[in-house]
Amino acid sequence: MEAVNRAELAGKLAEIEHRMRQAEVRGAVASYIPELAKVDPARFAVAVALPDGTVLQAGDAATPFSIQSISKVFTLAIALGRLGDQLWSRVGREPSGLAFNSILQLEQENGIPRNPFVNAGAIVVTDAILAGHQPRAVLGELLHFIRLAAGDDDIHINRAVAVSEQATAHRNIALAEFMAAMGNLRNPSALTIGTYVHQCAVEMTAIQLARAGLFLVNAPGCPRLVAPARIRRINALMMMCGHYDGSGEFAYRVGLPGKSGVGGGILAIVPGRASIAVWSPGLNTNGNSKLGTEALEHLARATGWSVFG
Ligand code: GLN
Repeated sequence: MEAVNRAELAGKLAEIEHRMRQAEVRGAVASYIPELAKVDPARFAVAVALPDGTVLQAGDAATPFSIQSISKVFTLAIALGRLGDQLWSRVGREPSGLAFNSILQLEQENGIPRNPFVNAGAIVVTDAILAGHQPRAVLGELLHFIRLAAGDDDIHINRAVAVSEQATAHRNIALAEFMAAMGNLRNPSALTIGTYVHQCAVEMTAIQLARAGLFLVNAPGCPRLVAPARIRRINALMMMCGHYDGSGEFAYRVGLPGKSGVGGGILAIVPGRASIAVWSPGLNTNGNSKLGTEALEHLARATGWSVFG
């Protein structure tokens, strides 16, 4: 991979922002969580954090947005830290080829979700770290982890977003209840889903998210919150499953491990080099940020950043 010239990179980010601001087809903002439907689709941000903590940015990079499913990366890191490989008896490591909130495979596969990034899998991960703890303590641990990774204490949960999702969480409750029926949930579903919707309602700016991703970059200077062998595995899961049924397309177009959220954010990792956060609220048909993906595709091409050589 090519070395990065900072001035050049800053120029590329400005260019990408300019191009994305002009895009007319921006995708559809998530509306099944009513609070997210209020977000302005014209927003756009990109931020790149380098291992020494420098952040280069363009656009609305200081505006907080709902990280939604990107939170699943942090809860997975916490769950693996707590349970290690035992976690894999309850959730798989294969791409699902289905939508993030699909229930189809769960019945065929005995209540064991395909991977930790589809909703069912993330609900199991949250349920696993909840065991023996109060939701408040688990959410406190999650915020502590994210703040430590980002080196920034000003990261919080947006309660209005959590309440809004809770009120319309029928599908996630159905997933949790089905897994309970199959013996793969340890807590009452209301407790697990209550925790899950709050974790998804963490708000971060693109700058904060790019910094928080540095713990997965595995380079000198990055926060050491997870052992290198585990970092590689989390990146592998992000590559294979981080964009649901759009994961193959994302790998093809961007070539980096990434995790999307329906708030329109994407966290992408350039192993050994950088952590990238993009934000554009409009989604493609797979529920991944449309212009966020395009921006990452441009950036990867401009920098030569790819895990595929
Ligand atoms: N909280 C959202 C949900 O469960 C997260 C989904 C996402 O970001 N893809 O539906």
